[in-house]
Amino acid sequence: MERLQKVMAEAGVASRRASEKLIQSGRVQVNGETVTELGTKVGRRDKVEVDGVPIHREPHVYYLLNKPRGVISSAHDDKGRKTVVDILREDEVEERIYPVGRLDYDTTGILLLTNDGALANKLMHPRFEVAKTYIAKVKGIVQNDELKRLRLGVRVDGRKTKPAKTRLKEVDRHHQTSLVQLTIHEGRYHQVKRMFEAVGHPVIKLHRETYGFLNLQGLQSGEFRELRPEEVTKLK
Ligand code: URA
Repeated sequence: MERLQKVMAEAGVASRRASEKLIQSGRVQVNGETVTELGTKVGRRDKVEVDGVPIHREPHVYYLLNKPRGVISSAHDDKGRKTVVDILREDEVEERIYPVGRLDYDTTGILLLTNDGALANKLMHPRFEVAKTYIAKVKGIVQNDELKRLRLGVRVDGRKTKPAKTRLKEVDRHHQTSLVQLTIHEGRYHQVKRMFEAVGHPVIKLHRETYGFLNLQGLQSGEFRELRPEEVTKLK
């Protein structure tokens, strides 16, 4: 059972707040009866109508995408650029999905998309702390003390980042670049790029390899798959 305003918001009727107003103003019916109580809960079989028009309730779906570079991590783009949702639409995914968190336009890698708002909110909540592993190609040769600073936390926007894991994978002395694996549990704006900037190594290329226990095995750039039921259960 879920709260009526949440079910309405998930069906795309209106925001949760605006759905509450619709309920309070007597415009919402459950199984033919007008409901004005905000605490009302409804199950999947209950028929919800707004002004007598049934709302469209979609079953929850979960997709894992290997995001290519040059696409926007959102459901719409005002400037008309291609979005991650467009990639799935081209393959006839029709649910009203959106990405869980964001990867930058030029960042590649693992991205979860769903229409399950409750799970998306939970996964994005800082308290939940999903581990995310990135592989970053950065300028310069990264030193051990710099890795240590990344692990312990660096200042980003005046606030220290939480403990991270690092692994130096490769150094290219000829081109003066390094490949570093970084695992973080936060998702602040441009976090990885800004962490490397804080230690003097701007990011040249960024790829996300894992999201919690999920990885990109079997998915080429631009490919996606549905999560298996047991993977969904594990995420919840
Ligand atoms: N950190 C970044 O800086 N960019 C991303 O896309 C993801 C994490």
